[in-house]
Amino acid sequence: MININGHTSVYGIIGNPISHTMSPAIHNMISEAMGIDSVYVPFVANDDLKSIVKGLYSLGVQGINVTVPYKTGIIYELYGLEPLAMEIGAVNTLKYTEHGYYGYNTDILGLERELKDEKVSLYGRDTVILGAGGAARAVAFLCAAQGAASITIVNRTLNKALDIRADVAAYAGRNGMYALSENVNAVTLKEIGSAVPYGCIAFQCTNVGLAPDDSSCVVHDGSFYKRVAAGIDLIYRPAETMFMKYVKSAGGEAYNGLKMLVYQAVSAYEIWHSVAVPDVVIYDVERSLR
Ligand code: NAP
Repeated sequence: MININGHTSVYGIIGNPISHTMSPAIHNMISEAMGIDSVYVPFVANDDLKSIVKGLYSLGVQGINVTVPYKTGIIYELYGLEPLAMEIGAVNTLKYTEHGYYGYNTDILGLERELKDEKVSLYGRDTVILGAGGAARAVAFLCAAQGAASITIVNRTLNKALDIRADVAAYAGRNGMYALSENVNAVTLKEIGSAVPYGCIAFQCTNVGLAPDDSSCVVHDGSFYKRVAAGIDLIYRPAETMFMKYVKSAGGEAYNGLKMLVYQAVSAYEIWHSVAVPDVVIYDVERSLR
């Protein structure tokens, strides 16, 4: 049980809507397990991010998570941000500093830690990203940063996939990954069957399949799933999505996004509190969310 007193440091999450968030449960569970005197609360935000950030900073709120739809707009209110977060153009974690808030993208750190746990390496692999929203964009940059051989972005709306393609190819070129910069592709969902190499790692980054819509999936084409060696669905409710079922029945490994969610919170916690959250605490958090 958290014992709030005059010394308790305050953390929170801003977004709109915010009622669905699991972040307060995760952060408060970690504080309790580690005996750290802090509390984490949800704040419903509006588009006046300047006033919101100024108010939170004035009150000394030590760390803020940012969720939909403010992950990009919030950047203009920060005094600085991490280089990869700047490339992606989105942050989800702000840390209080004496100059103002500094921004991080721990969604990416979370997915990176999930992939490490599951022993999925992106280095030298063909990767496929279903979707071209905020999450897909971050995943595309992670694939590039981890040295993927190719990245194919597949989206219902081609223009959004083309935008990510251009930004990721430019990032790869600027960072000396010339082969990759020529190998970032964008296609529509209708073209997916033949556009995807065999043995690829696929990330499901659309909203399709989210509970209660458990039986839907953005791709039903069996020839696509035969090419997928490992599939990661960023959705974690339901625990096994239709996408994961398709991947498994075609012989691939499949994972959901629960570890990514937990690890993005753990990474934020570690940045804010300068501690390493022990594996046993992470495991307990994950088990209680499951
Ligand atoms: P977003 O920016 O709104 O993007 C949504 C994407 O889904 C777009 O590419 C959109 O295509 C596509 N889409 C939506 N409905 C579709 C339909 N009926 N048919 C085909 N495509 C459709 O959302 P986001 O922030 O990227 O989040 C995407 C998913 O990732 C969500 O389910 C979210 O819960 C999950 N996520 C999980 C974590 C985690 O920690 N596990 C973190 C972040 C996000 P168009 O461009 O054509 O509209």
